[in-house]
Amino acid sequence: MTRVAVVGSGVAGLSTAYRLASDHNVVVLDRDAIGNGTSSRASGVITTPVDYPDQPAWSRHAIEFFRELDGTGVFEWTDREYVRGVRPADVEAARETATSNDDTGSSDAGDGVTDVQLVDADAYADVFDPEAPYEKALVWPGTGYFDVDEFLATMHHECVRRGVEFRPDTTVESVRVTDGAVAGIETEYGSVDADAVVAAAGSATPDLLADVLRVPIRPFTWNVAYLEVDLPDGVPMGGDSILGAYWRGTRDGRLLVGTEHQYGGSGRATAPPEDPREIGDELDRLLREDLPGILASVDADSTVVRYECCPMADATTPDAKPIIDAPAEAPDGLVIAAGFHGAGVMAADAIGTAVRARLTDEPVPFALEPLSLDRFETREIDFPFRTMFQGSVTGSAEE
Ligand SMILES: Cc1cc2nc3c(=O)[nH]c(=O)nc-3n(C[C@H](O)[C@H](O)[C@H](O)COP(=O)(O)OP(=O)(O)OC[C@H]3O[C@@H](n4cnc5c(N)ncnc54)[C@H](O)[C@@H]3O)c2cc1C
Repeated sequence: MTRVAVVGSGVAGLSTAYRLASDHNVVVLDRDAIGNGTSSRASGVITTPVDYPDQPAWSRHAIEFFRELDGTGVFEWTDREYVRGVRPADVEAARETATSNDDTGSSDAGDGVTDVQLVDADAYADVFDPEAPYEKALVWPGTGYFDVDEFLATMHHECVRRGVEFRPDTTVESVRVTDGAVAGIETEYGSVDADAVVAAAGSATPDLLADVLRVPIRPFTWNVAYLEVDLPDGVPMGGDSILGAYWRGTRDGRLLVGTEHQYGGSGRATAPPEDPREIGDELDRLLREDLPGILASVDADSTVVRYECCPMADATTPDAKPIIDAPAEAPDGLVIAAGFHGAGVMAADAIGTAVRARLTDEPVPFALEPLSLDRFETREIDFPFRTMFQGSVTGSAEE
C-alpha cells in the first residue's frame, strides 16, 4: 500500500488523511499537538460561495461535506445565511455578483449554496444600525458555521478510526529525495520512509520545502474578538469589505468579530507584528469606532469577553487562493496543500479531495487548475499582499 507522510495536522493535513486513509498507509506528523496550529483559532465561518466566488463547484463540494458530517462525533453544523451590506456606490457591482455567482449563469442554481440574492437593506433593519451606510444587501443563503474545535476533534477521531497514524510533537526538518522522487522525510527523531509527502504545514511550508521547491506563500494574521451583545434570534453572519471585517453569532449568544490584521485600506503590512499588542489596539478601534455604526447590536462600550488576537499566522499566496498541486518542477510524489488565506477551514473536504486527485489522478467534481502552482509567475515570497476582501463587490476602496 502506498505510504504517505502528511506534514501538518491542521485542516489541510486532517482532510488529506481523511480522504487517503481508505487505501493508503497514512502517517500525519506535527511539530505541535494535533490540530493546534492556525486551524484551532479559526472562527468557523463557512462561506465558500463568498470567498471562492469563481469556484462554485468547489464551494458546493465543501459545504455538502459539512452538512453530511453533521451529527458525527461532536460535530454540529448550523445553516446560517451570510449578509453583506452594499453601499450606494457598489449597487451595480452587487447586482452583477447576484447574477453571476454560480456556474449556470443565473442567480438561482437551485441548490441553496450558490444562489445569491440582492435585496433592500431595510430587509435587515433588525441587524444593521439605522446609521449604517447600506442601500442594499447581498445575501448568500447556503452558508453556515460550526465550532472549529469540534470539527478538528471529529476529523482527528475519524482519521484514527480509519487507521491513520499520528505523530504529534515531531518537527519535520526536510523532505528526502532520491533520483528525482520523494523517498521520505527527515524528522528531529530520525527518518520516515514514504512514497509520497503532502506538505500541509501552513505558513511554514516554504521553510519545510526549502531544499526541494520554492513556493510563493507568506504569513499573515487575523484578529478575532467575542462580544457580549443582545443578538436577534438567528442573526445572519455578515461582513463589510471596506472594514475588512466579518461576524457571526455563536451558539451561546455572543457575537464573534474577525478582521485581517491592519484592516481598512490598502498598503497593509499584514504580517504578524513583532508586538502583539498592536493587533489588540487595531481590533479595539474596529470594535469601538467602526462596528457601532454598522451593527444595531454593537455599542461603543459593548463588553469584549474574549480576544483571539493571534500573532499566529495563516498563509497566503499572490492571488489569495491556495496551492494544491503536485507541480512538475517538484520531485515526484510531492504534493503541496497550503496558502488558504483565511478560508482554509471552510474548504476542508475539498482540500483532501484535491490532494487525493493529485496523488491518484482520480476525477474530482471541481476544477483543479485554479489550485496549480504554475498559475503564478513568481516563486518569491515578498509579493504584495492581497486582502481577501479585495475585488469583492464592495471592495472598490481597497483596490
Ligand atoms: C483568527 C482566525 C480566524 C479564522 N477564521 C476562519 C474561518 O472562519 N473560516 C475559515 O475557513 N478559515 C478561517 N481562518 C483561516 C484558517 O484557520 C486557515 O486557512 C486554515 O486553518 C489553514 O489550515 P492549514 O492546515 O493550512 O494550516 P495550520 O492549521 O497552520 O496547520 C499547519 C500545521 O503544520 C504544522 N507544522 C508546521 N511546520 C511543521 C514542521 N516543520 N513539522 C511538523 N509540523 C509542522 C503546524 O504545527 C500546524 O499544526 C481563520 C484564521 C485565523 C487565524
